[in-house]
Amino acid sequence: MRPAKQNETRKTLGDTVLRVNNLQVDFETPLGTVRAIDGANFDLRAGETLAILGESGSGKSVSAAAVMGLVPSPPGRISGGEVLLGDRDLVRISAREMRRVQGDRIAMVFQDAITSLNPGLTVGYQIAEPLRVKQGLSRAAARKRAIALMERVQIASAAQRVDDYPHQFSGGMSQRVMIAMALALDPEILIADEPTTALDVTVQAQIMDLLRNLQRETGMAIILITHDIGVAAEMADRVAVMYAGRIVESGPVQDILYKPSHPYTIGLMDSIPTLEQKFQRLRQIDGAPPVMTAVPKGCAFHPRCARATDLCRTQRPEVVYLSPQHGSACHYAKEVTRE
Ligand code: SF4
Repeated sequence: MRPAKQNETRKTLGDTVLRVNNLQVDFETPLGTVRAIDGANFDLRAGETLAILGESGSGKSVSAAAVMGLVPSPPGRISGGEVLLGDRDLVRISAREMRRVQGDRIAMVFQDAITSLNPGLTVGYQIAEPLRVKQGLSRAAARKRAIALMERVQIASAAQRVDDYPHQFSGGMSQRVMIAMALALDPEILIADEPTTALDVTVQAQIMDLLRNLQRETGMAIILITHDIGVAAEMADRVAVMYAGRIVESGPVQDILYKPSHPYTIGLMDSIPTLEQKFQRLRQIDGAPPVMTAVPKGCAFHPRCARATDLCRTQRPEVVYLSPQHGSACHYAKEVTRE
């Protein structure tokens, strides 16, 4: 994401609202310690959208959980690195301080809104709760604000629907409720973890539009976790591609889409169906992501990479910068192009 060495630490953030430096997250399992995040580096700038893209198990959701202070401990733990929000390192603050950051400064929207909402409480209560607990608003004032937030996320007849329960809302409407909850305390960063994966294509487009409009209004920065390169292309200013717990390519969205320089990113691009491909088999990346208890030596992608050499099988590639903003963790990044 930036021309920095893996262990570099910079404290001057400028317009950067969040900086993740050499983040490492481990999980204890019956088979031993699994390194789920292996030295992730990325910055998030005010008002931008950074998409973290990858297949299931690549580490993108664990990265988000680490930023949000939600790595379950045990079995997980942040074993190294920094998560800088302004001049505070979120890895080193107390649980109490972290609770103040959650919602107030960084909020999160999860994939499956229907199961994330409490079925026994009205949506209005759930939106109003952080306003009462964290801002000390009276019950009436919090309810009024909850209605305003429901209107802001375009829930029709908000004043009538504020006392409805989650089961009375569709998947798309439930996701709007989750977004209203996330916006309640005016966070500067929103982490959206696969926010549209459980929705049909039309509703997905509406939720994306809503997030874009809210970002324009509020200036908040968004980290969008997605496995869908189309969603990343549509929403992101910059993209970080993850594989086996590492960011293997990162850069401005135009570079990732039109000048990908990591074979994994190229594989993701090639697996997007096109109209010309009618009646042909969909292309896919051969093989499967590694089991994290047995990540291959050298480049973790080498068993699936048609270009792999002996060097790839033995030496872990460091990030090669093709431009100040575009980096690729491939030994052959300067030669790799999409045909
Ligand atoms: Fe493929 Fe080698 Fe590059 Fe890894 S380092 S992506 S195996 S060419």
